[in-house]
Amino acid sequence: MGRRVGVLALQGDVREHVRALTTAGADAVEVRTRADLATVDGIVIPGGESTTIGKLLAIFGLLEPLRQRIAGGLPAYGSCAGMILLANDVIDGRPDQPLVGGLDVSVRRNAFGRQVDSFETEVELAGVGSVHGVFIRAPWVERAGDGVEVLATSAGRIVAVRQGRILATAFHPELTGDVRVHRLFCELIDGGP
Ligand code: GLN
Repeated sequence: MGRRVGVLALQGDVREHVRALTTAGADAVEVRTRADLATVDGIVIPGGESTTIGKLLAIFGLLEPLRQRIAGGLPAYGSCAGMILLANDVIDGRPDQPLVGGLDVSVRRNAFGRQVDSFETEVELAGVGSVHGVFIRAPWVERAGDGVEVLATSAGRIVAVRQGRILATAFHPELTGDVRVHRLFCELIDGGP
């Protein structure tokens, strides 16, 4: 359909998102500069380390431009660290951790425990069905605002949400070879404002 979807390529599992988006039918490009950002119809913030990605966003001069574009309606999807960055508020974050925001949620960072506590489980995702959830030092959503639709829970915790054209998962569909979540994001982009 010719939609151009950017993957923020400062740190994290960028390649896996590019591959998943391409399989889902998008024209996927890596975004490192403001000029790159200006060309995309949607943006994915990958899994990785939210504090590092946040710092690099500031250093690369992308934090404000990205905030502005998302506030202006640019569809965004964040997995894991990406979910944290899209949240308006983080619990157990670093005090100086920059967030992009846009999603009216409070996210608890490293909520499911440390690296050794990473786990995989099936997750029932609204509108998609059962997906394999890979959780790696994953956050959960502790507070979801009125406009936020809860798409999935796991162990009684909110692990996937949508607010308008912002989508976030605590888990990593990009690591599974199943591109239904990326296809859902492409549909959000195609859906218009
Ligand atoms: N715990 C990481 C963070 O705070 C996220 C981990 C991940 O993306 N797999 O950014």
